Amino acid sequence: MYPEPFRYHRPRSLQEAITLLSELGEGAKPLAGGQSIVPILKMRMDEPSDLVDITRLPELSHINNEQGVIRIGALCTHAQIARSDIADTVPILKDCAGGIADPQVRSLGTIGGSVSVADPSSDWPALLHVLHSEIVCQGPEGIRTVPIGEFIQDAYTTSLGDAELVTEIRFKLPPAGSGGAYIGFKKAAPSYPAASAGIQLTLDDKQVCRDITIALGSAGPTPVMSAEAEALLQGKTLSTALLREAAEIIVAASSPPSDARGSTTFKRDILKSLFMKAAATAIERAGGSQIDGSHDYV
Ligand SMILES: Cc1cc2nc3c(=O)[nH]c(=O)nc-3n(C[C@H](O)[C@H](O)[C@H](O)COP(=O)(O)OP(=O)(O)OC[C@H]3O[C@@H](n4cnc5c(N)ncnc54)[C@H](O)[C@@H]3O)c2cc1C
Repeated sequence: MYPEPFRYHRPRSLQEAITLLSELGEGAKPLAGGQSIVPILKMRMDEPSDLVDITRLPELSHINNEQGVIRIGALCTHAQIARSDIADTVPILKDCAGGIADPQVRSLGTIGGSVSVADPSSDWPALLHVLHSEIVCQGPEGIRTVPIGEFIQDAYTTSLGDAELVTEIRFKLPPAGSGGAYIGFKKAAPSYPAASAGIQLTLDDKQVCRDITIALGSAGPTPVMSAEAEALLQGKTLSTALLREAAEIIVAASSPPSDARGSTTFKRDILKSLFMKAAATAIERAGGSQIDGSHDYV
């Protein structure tokens, strides 16, 4: 099906894009990689009057480390992030970015577009919860920085205001002794994961867990976290038995829907096994091992 006709705009600066979105009103939508919005338009699930193409804005394609704060511009594609130097330093980023869909989607889809859609099955929201990320937004009222947990409010719902754009994603570089892993489980590359688990932890020189953050994706309307599971693991040596106990706690807090990707029971079992696998890889990486990781396929 063809989309309804719309007007196309290509602003040359971030400020021009915001002014245009503001003047055109709520019928106008930003266009980034087009990997979510174009299928939506073709299915006529949305009929915007205007598309404001932000892909050529010069300000939003950076990936850098500024004094221990990682800053990723909203227009960075999944592929660009996967092959960045930062992803070599923070391998959980490569696990996530390199496992999204297929090369075509990864070359066009952007991290800013992904968080703006807030699809419960997409990979970035869970991963960015694990890294305690902040989302930088800019609109007619200025710039604001929102923790990811407040930015994503519900399935497909964010705190973005009118004419506001996501401009950057920020998180602190994990300290020495840290390791992380993110694993999604999917049927094939071009499909979203049925379930995913991300873990970032820091171990001291006696292998005691000093810090840990866990998030499950495709496990409910928004990423599932559990302070109880994290508290169980903090200050302890991470034995298999203890990790299994934590997996039971966080998976009990999940509510994965039964759908074409599997039943709720099946997804809960998968979530437990992804949790254990991500934990094992995160522990190895915290010890300095260079292990490749990515999604698991049926
Ligand atoms: C076949 C296929 C498989 C996929 N599989 C996966 C997968 O396994 N895992 C996964 O995570 N994702 C997957 N995706 C989604 C993909 O990652 C998209 O890139 C992403 O969801 C949207 O990013 P985009 O840059 O294409 O945004 P667009 O499609 O251009 O925009 C999406 C929405 O966000 C808004 N928007 C875009 N950028 C901004 C911004 N900076 N500020 C404010 N609003 C903005 C747009 O107005 C629009 O409403 C898949 C997509 C396809 C087509």
